[in-house]
Amino acid sequence: MSDPSRPNGPKIIAVANQKGGVGKTTTAINLAAALVKEGLRVLVVDLDPQGNASTGLGIDPEARGYTTYDLILGDIDLHEVIQTTEFEGLWISPATVDLSSADIEMVANEKRSFLLHDSLRQHAIDDFKFDFILIDCPPSLSLLTVNAMVAAESVLVPLQSEFFALEGLSQLMLTVREVRQTANSNLRIEGIVLTMYDQRNNLSRQVEQDARENLGDLVFNTVIPRNVRISEAPSFALPVLDYDPHSKGALAYQALAKEVIAKKGR
Ligand code: ADP
Ligand code: MG
Repeated sequence: MSDPSRPNGPKIIAVANQKGGVGKTTTAINLAAALVKEGLRVLVVDLDPQGNASTGLGIDPEARGYTTYDLILGDIDLHEVIQTTEFEGLWISPATVDLSSADIEMVANEKRSFLLHDSLRQHAIDDFKFDFILIDCPPSLSLLTVNAMVAAESVLVPLQSEFFALEGLSQLMLTVREVRQTANSNLRIEGIVLTMYDQRNNLSRQVEQDARENLGDLVFNTVIPRNVRISEAPSFALPVLDYDPHSKGALAYQALAKEVIAKKGR
């Protein structure tokens, strides 16, 4: 279900994992693009000072203007921060390195955990008629990630199909539980998606088996294969669906989008 106080509001999903390089940004961009291909209106909130989601969707650093930093900490109108992309139906709140000081600046604020939540619930958000908002989190369990979890209805966790992947998950789940207890009792796990999966690799298969045994339904049926087209696409500033629509990577993100759509409103 969407935010009960806003039945027609967008479903907000935080894409989070405190480990870097596990496929958060890749999943945020490509899931967003796949949802758009299904005719939906999607906003990507780049919440990582590295700004990889912004770059991957073709927003040059000079063209970033107002950014997610201003959305959270400035008194800037939503319309000035949210930019259109080359892809119809897909918007972005871009990020620059400015965002790296946000954590420290937020600490002093009484509403520090609710800043993104409040920004995304301004009335102006209704003008965009978004179906989904995907928040691309930084690789940490910092206050920025907590803000994403407080703003969101659910957390989508990309899990790299490698050794120790499940270990890191328990810490993430602890943060989810803390956020539930303190700030957002409705927060759910959208799902865990195995990324960079290599069918021929025993380790990948073992991680998948462990994940499905331990986490059951929380694991998406779709697994995202390790696919060179996925890793090439950002250097062309394209989601893989536009870069190579028939690639295994593109098909996997389309399947993931269908699962995410099926869960919406349930
Ligand atoms: P994170 O945002 O978690 O730090 P990224 O999405 O930036 O991780 O991914 C890390 C690197 O792995 C990037 O270079 C990306 O292109 C690559 N990558 C991500 N998913 C895949 C995949 N399924 N197949 C091949 N390369 C991938
Ligand atoms: Mg990233």
